Amino acid sequence: MSDLSALFEAAKAVREKAYAPYSNFLVGAAFRTPDGTVFTGCNVENASYPVSVCAEGGAVSAMIAAGYREIAEAVVVGDAALCTPCGVCRQRFAEFGTENLVVHVADLNGIKQSFTLEELLPAAFELEDKAKDEKD
Ligand SMILES: [Zn+2]
Repeated sequence: MSDLSALFEAAKAVREKAYAPYSNFLVGAAFRTPDGTVFTGCNVENASYPVSVCAEGGAVSAMIAAGYREIAEAVVVGDAALCTPCGVCRQRFAEFGTENLVVHVADLNGIKQSFTLEELLPAAFELEDKAKDEKD
């Protein structure tokens, strides 16, 4: 199994754990760091809708909690025609994506389209001295 296939399978598997009783829209995300470590997350909804967390947000929290700071490649799996990251998650990728980040968008059958960060979020907001750089 290729690294990308494994990343897809990880995102698809964690999607099954999503808590989405309101939308019934399950999403899974899997990130690969530059050293090959994989982190996953699923969406977690709440009766108070704005409290909900996207799959990508969960994966970012897991990655940061484990001491990692960079996403080299990501797969997001949903059952929509094209489950692209929301605007908030595009900003998350801008914060933690490597220069060559690729975000693959998939349905349950496989990857449908792949995007660079520039394609997802042109002219992204970034501070020159990111807090994460202080940790490197
Ligand atoms: Zn999102």
